[in-house]
Amino acid sequence: MSHSRENIVVVGGGVAGLATALRLAPLPVTLVVAAPLGAEAATGWAQGGIAAALGADDRPDLHAIDTLAAGAGLSEPLVARRVAAAAPGAIDWLVGLGTPFDRNPNGSLALGLEAAHARRRIVHAQGDGTGRVVLETLTRAARACPSITVMEGWRAGELLADAQGRIAGIAARDRAGRTLTLAARAVVLATGGLGGLYGATTNPLGAVGSGLALAARAGAVLRDLEFVQFHPTAMAVGGDPERAASGGPAPMPLATEALRGEGARLFNSRGERFMAEVPGQELAPRDVVARAIFAQIAAGETVVLDARIKDIETRFPGVVALCRAHGLDPARAPIPVRPAAHYHMGGISVDGAGRASVPGLWACGEVASTGLHGANRLASNSLLEALAYAYWIAADIAGEEAAPGTPRAPSPARPRSPARAEIRALMDRQVGVVREAQGLEAAAARLGAIADRDGCDLSLVALAITEAALRRCESRGGHFRADHPDPAMVARHSQTRFDETPGVAPSIEARQVA
Ligand SMILES: Cc1cc2nc3c(=O)[nH]c(=O)nc-3n(C[C@H](O)[C@H](O)[C@H](O)COP(=O)(O)OP(=O)(O)OC[C@H]3O[C@@H](n4cnc5c(N)ncnc54)[C@H](O)[C@@H]3O)c2cc1C
Repeated sequence: MSHSRENIVVVGGGVAGLATALRLAPLPVTLVVAAPLGAEAATGWAQGGIAAALGADDRPDLHAIDTLAAGAGLSEPLVARRVAAAAPGAIDWLVGLGTPFDRNPNGSLALGLEAAHARRRIVHAQGDGTGRVVLETLTRAARACPSITVMEGWRAGELLADAQGRIAGIAARDRAGRTLTLAARAVVLATGGLGGLYGATTNPLGAVGSGLALAARAGAVLRDLEFVQFHPTAMAVGGDPERAASGGPAPMPLATEALRGEGARLFNSRGERFMAEVPGQELAPRDVVARAIFAQIAAGETVVLDARIKDIETRFPGVVALCRAHGLDPARAPIPVRPAAHYHMGGISVDGAGRASVPGLWACGEVASTGLHGANRLASNSLLEALAYAYWIAADIAGEEAAPGTPRAPSPARPRSPARAEIRALMDRQVGVVREAQGLEAAAARLGAIADRDGCDLSLVALAITEAALRRCESRGGHFRADHPDPAMVARHSQTRFDETPGVAPSIEARQVA
């Protein structure tokens, strides 16, 4: 056991974990990351950029209005305004760390346009290389920061409470099966999303909602788990060969939304531009475009994105490289696309300082539910959310006089779920772009049986999403029910808790609240 009353543990090495650790300096931070820094983080794959109202025609309140419209009644106005107002400062901070954002000839930041943004406000780097560039910058800064100790290759498996119920440390394991416990006066979960629970996903395959399971097993409330965003235009090319080379089935490479912002168009196999009559056309909200593509595919069509737009090679070098790796030339031929699980709007329920419902625990980034995204995330708002909350979380922890007790001993480590392939196929089929009661009930029954048998985080998180989706008898944002196609009159959040009795798989309580 590493004992230091002053230590702060941050779990996760994407934008959320790195920014929180840096914002906490000079307070001592142990950054615990399952993979080597820079690998297996969705942050490095972000193509579009970071939304910030920086244009002469733009204002943070306009950015907040677009955020609330996308959130379909479940985004919180105060949160949207506060995050939008923090965006220019977050970009300044990244510039100060040396992030080489793309600039216009006059030196101002170049601003891109994405779906459902009323203004050009997407700050980007090396065209569609934003995530990689930001991750490299933050990683360099974290490695150079004397107050941050990086522990790579350690997966957090349990949050450890003290006798008063305050989170006072974590237990982590490495690949060799060694276990380590770290005491901490504060634990920040920044473990990312859960697209890896689905067969068709744009996420790193390790993104399976482990932070949700850690928090829920420690008694924290999870919120709005049913809201998964499906990106409309993942490339239907059988995965990314470079990522496949590192083992396992590959995530699907993404054809960024910014391509549609710059004029790329969707067609079915009959050459019909099926988005032409839909309000917003190709720039309609993500869920609308994803369902339109899904309907085409369900009707037996294939769908392509015609991205033969001006300067694609220089403006979207990452997309061009991904296409070429699959023998496609997007400057000459359209790209086959289909929807894939991309982003989780739900997460650990947190307040304005990123605090979860159990003392001693904070959450940042995709694993958190802050109230920003509601039922649907506006493109390029997630890197921003992580950057904004990293600052507020650090300020909150720095200002807290905490005296945690000794963390209790860790439980025996749980094995990995042997049913991963089955779970991913179930989630695709029955908890995907279009859901209905019968499929959800069947999925819940099967996932419940798997969870009872293996008690693994993966099965429990998949079951929790399914239960929440079953209870939400309406369609809103990223959650579409074919049997309840309209939104309810009143928008309600949902809450999920795990009820864990030692020795028995936790039961899941999901309900809708005001
Ligand atoms: C292809 C793609 C394109 C995207 N494009 C954009 C975009 O243009 N703009 C935008 O705003 N958003 C975009 N997003 C979403 C955005 O990238 C993510 O929401 C964001 O990067 C999440 O950051 P994070 O730090 O929360 O998680 P991540 O960056 O995923 O990092 C999670 C970290 O936690 C670690 N981890 C997980 N579990 C454990 C554990 N139990 N113990 C220890 N470590 C653990 C992982 O190894 C990783 O280091 C995109 C996402 C994808 C997949």
